[in-house]
Amino acid sequence: MIKHKTVIIGSGPAGLTAGIYLKRANLDPFIYGGYEYGGQLQKTTLVENFPGFPDGIEGPTLMENMIKQVKNLSIPIEFEDALSIEKDEDNGEFLVSSKERSVSTDNVVLALGSNPRKLSIPLEEKLSGRGVSYCATCDGFFYKGKTVAVIGGGDSAFEEALYLSKIASKVYLIHRRDSFKASNIMIERAKQNSNIEIITNSEVQELIESNNVLESIVLRNTNPSEDRKRIVLQGLFVAIGHTPNTSLFSNIKIKGKGEVKLIDENGYIQVNEFLETNVKGIYSAGDCDDHIYRQAVVAAAEGCKCAIMIERQSTYNS
Ligand code: NDP
Repeated sequence: MIKHKTVIIGSGPAGLTAGIYLKRANLDPFIYGGYEYGGQLQKTTLVENFPGFPDGIEGPTLMENMIKQVKNLSIPIEFEDALSIEKDEDNGEFLVSSKERSVSTDNVVLALGSNPRKLSIPLEEKLSGRGVSYCATCDGFFYKGKTVAVIGGGDSAFEEALYLSKIASKVYLIHRRDSFKASNIMIERAKQNSNIEIITNSEVQELIESNNVLESIVLRNTNPSEDRKRIVLQGLFVAIGHTPNTSLFSNIKIKGKGEVKLIDENGYIQVNEFLETNVKGIYSAGDCDDHIYRQAVVAAAEGCKCAIMIERQSTYNS
């Protein structure tokens, strides 16, 4: 059986940063990088808000650089999916297994990431990064002085609309019902913002492209007697929630004791202030526990924090 001091699951900024810090602290990490490595940045175009790249950097290039850094440090990384974690209470060790192998370890860092929910309509994928976006903080800057729409009725949609109202010349907030999940204070702020127009009872039915970029959207009113409406715009921000990739690790098997639940009611890993879950020795970093910031730089910082906590625990226990 292979043994490593720490096993990291995930190869986005959170997992790779945890690996870099742990290796440099001599804490022998092993990374399960997943068959599709690199997390959300792998599917992004230009990243202009990650410090250190004055002209921005393409998301996949940023991830390749991080993987290169991991390899230069000789950190073992296997591009396969970890499928289970089991804890043995007797020796305190975890067994983390993929289809290909099992690794025993003292600590686990879950850096599983999350995915934005999609509208699932034609052309959405093709126009992603070409007018369709899932993050106003990341991409809003590209729409300075332009017309954009935000889809959704929760706090994220209102927060994105308010953020974009300071950059774009006009923001439509489009929601499928006439009442909102968002908090009243956010709704009031949006209503009072002259740059934001709220359209209710409407769903995006069609995306229209011109020269391979988004040119307009067609809305269908949920009242069938109302006409369809076309809006010409440059940016569409989909803010209809996120799905953390935690389904495989929602419960952890403790040998002889049953299972411990790791997630909250929305599927996010629950952690304390030190990013430790309610199973001692299992930590979480990045978007699988963070439903507030969802930024690459924050995910990297959480990976660093987990590594430092593991290092402190290991010093304390030795
Ligand atoms: P939510 O689940 O709260 O809201 C998702 C919204 O998207 C809902 O209005 C939903 O509509 C709509 N929606 C879902 N699927 C579709 C679809 N296929 N087509 C059109 N619309 C759709 O997600 P959020 O990301 O907004 O928020 C997640 C959590 O994070 C919440 O607890 C929120 O309060 C919190 N948060 C807090 C913030 C803050 O405090 N500053 C900022 C951002 C988030 P419907 O209502 O009809 O279901």
